[in-house]
Amino acid sequence: MNQQPIRVRFAPSPTGMLHIGGLRTALFNFLFARHNNGKFLLRIEDTDKERSQQQYTDAILNTISWCSMTPDEPVVIQSERQQEHLRVAEQLVHEQKAYYCYCTPEELQRRIAQTTVNGITYSRYDGFCKKFIGQKLDKPFVIRFAVPADCTQVVVDDAIKGQITFSSDAFDDFILVRSDGAPMYNFVVVVDDAFMRISHIIRGEEHLINTPKQILLYQACGYPVPTFGHLPLILGPDGTKMSKRDSAANAYDYKERGYLPEALCNYLVRLGWSHGDQEIFSFPEMIAAFSLNAISSKGALFDTQKLDWVNSMHIKALSADVLYTYMKQVMQLPLDTHLPGLSLQTLYALIDQYKQRCVTLQQLYHELVNIHAQPANYEIAQLTFEEKKLLDSLITNLVVTEFTHEHLKKMIKVFCHTQEIKLGDLGPLIRVALTGKKDAPGIYDLMVALGKEETLTRLRNYYARF
Ligand code: GLU
Ligand code: ZN
Repeated sequence: MNQQPIRVRFAPSPTGMLHIGGLRTALFNFLFARHNNGKFLLRIEDTDKERSQQQYTDAILNTISWCSMTPDEPVVIQSERQQEHLRVAEQLVHEQKAYYCYCTPEELQRRIAQTTVNGITYSRYDGFCKKFIGQKLDKPFVIRFAVPADCTQVVVDDAIKGQITFSSDAFDDFILVRSDGAPMYNFVVVVDDAFMRISHIIRGEEHLINTPKQILLYQACGYPVPTFGHLPLILGPDGTKMSKRDSAANAYDYKERGYLPEALCNYLVRLGWSHGDQEIFSFPEMIAAFSLNAISSKGALFDTQKLDWVNSMHIKALSADVLYTYMKQVMQLPLDTHLPGLSLQTLYALIDQYKQRCVTLQQLYHELVNIHAQPANYEIAQLTFEEKKLLDSLITNLVVTEFTHEHLKKMIKVFCHTQEIKLGDLGPLIRVALTGKKDAPGIYDLMVALGKEETLTRLRNYYARF
């Protein structure tokens, strides 16, 4: 195991919105750093000029900050380090660990052969220009890495997947710098990770294929080789890799849809990682419990229903004022304009009721807007003569009742007794009168939350319809 101070990084490419799998990678790095009192860093890998866009960088950083994963050092922008990448490439050439390759596309057609290793087909350059090592010709060139002649295999000691051996037949003298002077991904990642003194590289499994080449580069550059850990894929509901186009894939959408960052991260941390039977974690609990050893090496299925359940559990656990502030400040929902005249006390009482029944904060918000308005439609649209009479005497009784949970409960009990009816028959009537719906919070809580005046108004309005 690596003995350096623990420093990890999340290194997204700003070529699209942050994928849910990317957020999980960021989270695992963040938790690993915090658990080990290490540093969590961010690097924006914007070397692909055509596909990188500032708007994606902004969106990625926003999503990370929404989840409170604050980096411990300034964000590194890869494109700003290009001079340094080129300097290291020239240094490797100078040390004869890399060479200029002058082959034209036509020549390459001849020089590149296909090899199949373990059922995978690779293109291999035959090393023709290696003979020019130490010379510079006046022709366009790429810089190729010279895979050491004695290298027959590279062993990756993966902290998650275990030991994986790659035969050197699987790679050739790969390109470090393209003919237009742009350094290539495998190379810049190594130079930057060494510059940032990264001790552990935790990233998606799709990068495992690059790891042997990167290890060779670490060795060639004389950098200490970090520990690697490759996270298994997140699979869509059909068991195949979740694509960027999948509707569940964009991490930022979850903010707008009213998922709490702690809930989303809780759900993501359990995707391929476990800690006994515990399902619900706060951020401090995730940090305390996290370890790389408990990560499964198999792909994990994305399950929206479970995410919804986890979110509902986190919503329930928060107090009304915290939920209110979050909806207002983070989700920027127009609570004050849509709920005019509602006292904060009533609003909190309603939030406390409805948070028990909501999966997302968007839903909670809509419930609040709904309940704030007098019902426009009633799910029970017909009342019998007896029901009307019942409603009338209920109103009379409520006028003289103190509006606490306890008093209301007592009053309704006596009322049902004297009227010789069951609470089960009265409850739906009250709920429909107050909310329009049969499915609503308990009647006492609802009445307390709405307050006496509003409750009586709604009951009278309902009564007056028939
Ligand atoms: N920039 C790469 C990506 O977004 C990650 C590279 C790495 O983690 O080594 O997939
Ligand atoms: Zn060549």
